[in-house]
Amino acid sequence: MPQTNASHDPALRSWIESANDPGTDFPIQNLPLCVVDRGESDPRICTAIGSSLVDLLELGDAGLLGEPDDDVVLALQGENLNLLMEQGPEAASALRRRLQSVLRHDNDALRDRAGLRAQAVFPIDGARFLMPVRIGDYTDFYACMNHARNVGAMFRPDNPLLPNYTWVPIGYHGRASSVVVSGTPVRRPHGQVKADDQPVPALVPSAMLDHELEFGVIIGQGNALGEPVAIDHAWSRVFGVCLVNDWSARDIQKWEYQPLGPFLAKNFGTTISPFIITRDALAPFHAPALARGEGDPRPLPHLFSEADQREGGLNVTLEVFIQSEAMRQAGRSPTLLSRGSLRDMYWTFAQIIAHHASNGCNLLPGDLIASGTISGGTRDSRGCMLELTWDGPGVPGSPPPGRTPVRLPTGEERRFLADGDEIIIRGSCERPGFRRIGFGECRGVILPAQR
Ligand code: MN
Repeated sequence: MPQTNASHDPALRSWIESANDPGTDFPIQNLPLCVVDRGESDPRICTAIGSSLVDLLELGDAGLLGEPDDDVVLALQGENLNLLMEQGPEAASALRRRLQSVLRHDNDALRDRAGLRAQAVFPIDGARFLMPVRIGDYTDFYACMNHARNVGAMFRPDNPLLPNYTWVPIGYHGRASSVVVSGTPVRRPHGQVKADDQPVPALVPSAMLDHELEFGVIIGQGNALGEPVAIDHAWSRVFGVCLVNDWSARDIQKWEYQPLGPFLAKNFGTTISPFIITRDALAPFHAPALARGEGDPRPLPHLFSEADQREGGLNVTLEVFIQSEAMRQAGRSPTLLSRGSLRDMYWTFAQIIAHHASNGCNLLPGDLIASGTISGGTRDSRGCMLELTWDGPGVPGSPPPGRTPVRLPTGEERRFLADGDEIIIRGSCERPGFRRIGFGECRGVILPAQR
């Protein structure tokens, strides 16, 4: 399990002054990795620090990150982080140590070389982010019980939570090809929808487009086909984490989801944040797993570990904002839709990974595994429009509860998302005695359906 070390020392400062601002997402204790299109050259792996990006290929070429034939330096020549991820956790930790050293306030190796600095350091504002990782497989879970219970209650008021929920981390295989990086517009999908008052379905643009507030882990070192991962080794398979918006078309979902689960209602687009926050950067922010309910069973032995119960949770605050087209035109900033916490996950990521590999399924470097919608116990912490606008839970046996739309500052109302709406997810970790770290933003604007 994760341990803090000298790289988490809150007293560490950088010569990049914006990194020392207490409000920044990217202090020198964070150093997330991303991939940027710098125009004239191949995609560049960069780290974010304060309001700047640092091009790691430039640093590597200048010899600031180790010998030219060093595996970590060679991995930085890739178009994405996969080469680095394949090298295992020690490579990521080594890169973190070397970067932190170069960027410390008292290191002049880059600070005092104006030419190199001008080439390697540039502003985050205006940067064109690319997919940080080549994702081979994407699995989405359903690990937050509040969400499962709310959605279950809408469809089965008398029996919201299915009996397998407390035993099995429920998931489905998503589609990796349509995972896009923050800033990529998402087109409203067409799909087969059957209205309650119609005898037959029709192919129409989704009228119930939704966001899902989620959190993802990117697998670093995988497991061989046929070899399960022990729960106490599961977290060490994670390279890093990101914010995820699992866009969902509820009307398509409602018609197609039985009996095999979501399909076209989900796989038209999934947005991830551009920054991969490394496992090392998260070490101070582990927390106990969510306590199970009174009557809940103890998980089977392969999904239970004392260490995971003690530290398998993550103390991450997650927020969702919306900005409509009219808000943009009026110059209004995005408005908060909900605020939740990753502490509300019923299953930890270690349990999810151990479960995923328990049948011998091989996880590979670059796989994305997402939490499922994160919702808290209060209305203002519900992580999707389906839940946010829902007036339930109703009394068993009574008519289903109604929906109250969300009101935007322009007076507009939303039950689901409209064309032109932009959804922005933010996240951060705080703990007394440590520097706050943030995750940047996961953004996507809805384009009208294709005619
Ligand atoms: Mn989802």
